[in-house]
Amino acid sequence: MMLDCAVIGGGPAGLNASLVLGRSRRATVLFDNEQPRNAVTQEAHGFMTRDGINPGELRRLAREELGKYPDVHIKKQKVTRVWKHDGIFSMETEEGDLYTAKKVIVATGLKERLPEIPHIHQFYGTSLFSCPFCDGWELRDRPLAVIAENSGALHMTKVVYNWSRDLVVCTNGKQTLSGEEKRLLEEKGVTVYEQPIAALTGDQGDLKQISFNDGTTISRDGGFVITELEQAASIGEGLGCEFNNQGAIKTDGIGRTSVDGVFACGDASIIAPSQLIIAAAEGSKAAIGVNAALVEENF
Ligand SMILES: Cc1cc2nc3c(=O)[nH]c(=O)nc-3n(C[C@H](O)[C@H](O)[C@H](O)COP(=O)(O)OP(=O)(O)OC[C@H]3O[C@@H](n4cnc5c(N)ncnc54)[C@H](O)[C@@H]3O)c2cc1C
Repeated sequence: MMLDCAVIGGGPAGLNASLVLGRSRRATVLFDNEQPRNAVTQEAHGFMTRDGINPGELRRLAREELGKYPDVHIKKQKVTRVWKHDGIFSMETEEGDLYTAKKVIVATGLKERLPEIPHIHQFYGTSLFSCPFCDGWELRDRPLAVIAENSGALHMTKVVYNWSRDLVVCTNGKQTLSGEEKRLLEEKGVTVYEQPIAALTGDQGDLKQISFNDGTTISRDGGFVITELEQAASIGEGLGCEFNNQGAIKTDGIGRTSVDGVFACGDASIIAPSQLIIAAAEGSKAAIGVNAALVEENF
């Protein structure tokens, strides 16, 4: 059967896109291999009516809602390949199943790489986070560290300072701050540690201490780390979509990419600010874009 739309990725972007497509009576399959970017965390914040919800529960509720719409089917499968021929998209899943669709929405999100610091993964998502807007409130007024190996260090520190003034910056051996920036931070009472970090230690995800290679140790309750981000899937690239200089798939106001019939939404098309509610809204826009294109083609 020819689908109206294949939605690839079942995070908030793909789920909301599928909801709007289902309500628009569009034959849709939502593919998801259940590896969301926020899988490490237990609580998601800043989504109205759902502040503090477990991210898995948010997805479960959204999938349950899709059950009301008979034109939407969910496949817990990874899409490995998508190609376009004569204006129609074909896709193959890891299991070797083949599907065809008139339109494709890429909602595959991002994956992140943490700095190479011993034990950092034990704390990421519990007391170390990447987005102050998501988790700053929970860490307010506590002794925090910003761990930043690149030129975003000063900006991240300024932002986190809004939540806690008991703040240090760790650049893990990198010279990312200029003399002037270090003086500015010093004036604000923010100590800069430029020596390499030997290890993070703590208990059940709660950070307690940062040890440096030179033997220095400091006590910290948590903090924020700048992570490297990249597309979680190469589907947009494989279809020939253009990317912006941040690595996001370029889209217009209704999710259209540079490839006719391919739409993108969520973190895959907006690297920052990345938020659940923004991803969901972008999913809605992309679905409206798909619907508009189908209306024009079929009316
Ligand atoms: C530690 C952490 C904490 C966060 N906390 C918050 C918070 O409190 N509040 C907030 O608003 N935001 C938070 N975020 C950001 C938020 O998680 C993202 O902005 C949001 O998940 C993006 O939604 P998405 O649908 O674009 O991508 P995702 O949620 O990452 O979903 C993408 C989905 O696509 C699937 N997928 C990828 N490739 C394929 C493929 N080839 N085939 C099939 N499926 C595929 C993945 O398995 C995944 O399920 C946090 C992020 C992190 C890392």
